Amino acid sequence: MKASQFLISTLKEAPADAEVASHRLMMRAGLIKKLGAGIYNYMPMGLRVIRKVENIVREEMNRAGAMELVMPVVQPAELWQETGRFGKMGPELLRIQDRHERDYVIQPTSEEVVTDIARQEIRSYKQLPKNFYQIQTKFRDERRPRFGLMRGREFVMKDAYSFDRDQASAKASYQVMAQAYRAIFDRFGLTYRAVAADSGAIGGDLSEEFQVIAATGEDAIVYCPGSDYAANMEKAEALAPAGPRPAPANALTKVPTPGKATCADVAQLLGVPLATTVKSLVLATDQLDDAGQVVKSQVWLLLLRGDHDLNEVKANKVPGLDTGFRFATVAEIDAHFGCKPGYLGPLGLKQPLKIVADREVVVLADWICGANEPDFHITGVNWGRDLPEPDLVADLRNVVEGDASPDGKGALAIERGIEVGHVFYLGTKYSKAMNATFLDEGGKPQFLEMGCYGIGITRLPAAAIEQNHDERGIVWPDAIAPFTLVLCPIAMDRNADVKAAAEKLYAELLAAGIDVILDDRGERPGVMFAEWELIGVPHRLVMSDRGLKEGTFEYQHRRDAAATKVNAAEAFAFLRERLGR
Ligand code: ATP
Ligand code: MG
Repeated sequence: MKASQFLISTLKEAPADAEVASHRLMMRAGLIKKLGAGIYNYMPMGLRVIRKVENIVREEMNRAGAMELVMPVVQPAELWQETGRFGKMGPELLRIQDRHERDYVIQPTSEEVVTDIARQEIRSYKQLPKNFYQIQTKFRDERRPRFGLMRGREFVMKDAYSFDRDQASAKASYQVMAQAYRAIFDRFGLTYRAVAADSGAIGGDLSEEFQVIAATGEDAIVYCPGSDYAANMEKAEALAPAGPRPAPANALTKVPTPGKATCADVAQLLGVPLATTVKSLVLATDQLDDAGQVVKSQVWLLLLRGDHDLNEVKANKVPGLDTGFRFATVAEIDAHFGCKPGYLGPLGLKQPLKIVADREVVVLADWICGANEPDFHITGVNWGRDLPEPDLVADLRNVVEGDASPDGKGALAIERGIEVGHVFYLGTKYSKAMNATFLDEGGKPQFLEMGCYGIGITRLPAAAIEQNHDERGIVWPDAIAPFTLVLCPIAMDRNADVKAAAEKLYAELLAAGIDVILDDRGERPGVMFAEWELIGVPHRLVMSDRGLKEGTFEYQHRRDAAATKVNAAEAFAFLRERLGR
């Protein structure tokens, strides 16, 4: 490609709404153009990156035995009604109507459609296993589209779906995909981690996220530097503390804490560690009748140490809370505690409720909680002596840096990541809802076992930039750079020797299959260099009249501090070696 034929449209300034480096740099380098909130044009320079991402994904999916197909962006609502998702999914699902007022959705994912294909095509166990994938546009009406392609509303995803005859075979298919994902993310040249993720109601441990490590990532990921343990924050287990509960030492004392409604304020006022305070979270569960009316509600008190945060996914697993909970209303809180939030505690309740203590709270002695009276707390609280043991003890909190690793191999560390892929065992959730069966050896119909596997094709370049940029611009890994190499001949438009040398080398490189762009625009060197550094092409060769006279060109990798002189006669071989071609 020659720069004069291509669209190079860099910007001096990023738009004001671009908060993170990848968004700013993608806009400034002219990779994308905003069309609406969370909706972007993929400009020629940006599309080259996206195509390279797609090709790597496609090659590895094919190698892993998956078959590519394409399912429509616009999908009839009927299939989505079969699984109930047409009604149940929130406003993220874009619903539209055609001229006959028939309902459709714009696909946010494609479990329904692929399951419909499978139930028509797969009749016998002899046809299994099968894995279908597509690289297709998705639409999710995200509440907060932001960070450019990182969280768009329209984006491109690779989504694959495996179909198997039984659980064992489905788990094997899952492992094949998890392995293919490692091959894919290795090829991108990014630092990433595969982390265990919550597999929801299905159970088992078959859910992993692939996270590109970056300080601006939206997800907290937990890992053990001394082992291969890694999980996302939702999933990472906080082990029960080792030691027994100490004996009570202090008497129960009501202390004034005027205006101190948080654990942190109370600890500061009393001059005690935050870890000796306990916070009270009040939840409620509803029992519904057949018509969906609430017949009975149960109020729950969750106790966590003041320095810990509630993990809602873990709370969702507590027996009794696992069918869904909500935060209690002000009226419910008043009826049980006789007090407004801020000064709540488990002592002297007006009505009984269910108490669930975090594993760390149940081993505390002499702790502090609200007195159920505005502007007062109680110190010296002890289980058994001042209140009965809790109804339940559970892991309710997010882990923190330094907690013991669940595998017993050291202390946990936390870093941030960007979720670029997800592999997930689905079981028979969709096949049961849509009656997708096959006939087993005995001729009996069985539900198909499924898995689903996503990669954020358009999120990936954004994640790559978050991890690889400097003050001058993007630094692409070779595998997904819009061009791998740029030739920058100085004054090419005016100097016949430079022009001839540049054209010759350019032709040789093209013939060798190297993804090279020749900047034949005759721009001033400073402008030209700054532009390619912003765009982030990893390899650059500068050719000048002075260099030609002494028989050298100047090579510089985007990460190098200075250029290296290369013998002009050996430049082709040198570049091939550098580019691994
Ligand atoms: P997130 O938690 O980031 O919203 P998700 O759990 O909704 O992601 P999946 O439904 O598993 O994501 O989709 C598969 C992949 O698609 C994700 O791993 C991510 O890389 C990508 N993806 C999801 N939502 C978006 C979005 N709004 N914009 C760009 N890529 C997205
Ligand atoms: Mg999402």
